Amino acid sequence: MSKRDRTTPEVAAQVRLRDAHAIWEWSEERIHHGVTFRKFWATGRPICIAPLVDPKQSGLCWGRSTLDHVHAQNQMGVGKARALSDPDHLVSVCQGHMEDGRKAGFQWNTANRAAERAYLTDGVVAARAVQLVRA
Ligand SMILES: [Zn+2]
Repeated sequence: MSKRDRTTPEVAAQVRLRDAHAIWEWSEERIHHGVTFRKFWATGRPICIAPLVDPKQSGLCWGRSTLDHVHAQNQMGVGKARALSDPDHLVSVCQGHMEDGRKAGFQWNTANRAAERAYLTDGVVAARAVQLVRA
């Protein structure tokens, strides 16, 4: 593994905070009940963007929060190195929506790269639009 592939604790923290903030911002709890950011995360739920960009995934998160590497569109292709370990190429995804979900017959992250990419480049609305087009 080359040096640039390593995700530093600082980058990991930055990505988690960004995603946690987006999830909270779009949450029913904040919108309808005014729940604060701190209180929202006090429950210890996994930080995962799957339900954020794909609302059908709501309630299906489990396990630890992990970081998923996302290639930019022009980095796609067989034999390419994995995406850089910077916030522009990382999203928070729970175990259930990563490889471990495969045991249940469905791996959300690899099936939804376009939505992950849209989230990173254009935000939640763009990512949800990708999902709607697919549906
Ligand atoms: Zn999840």
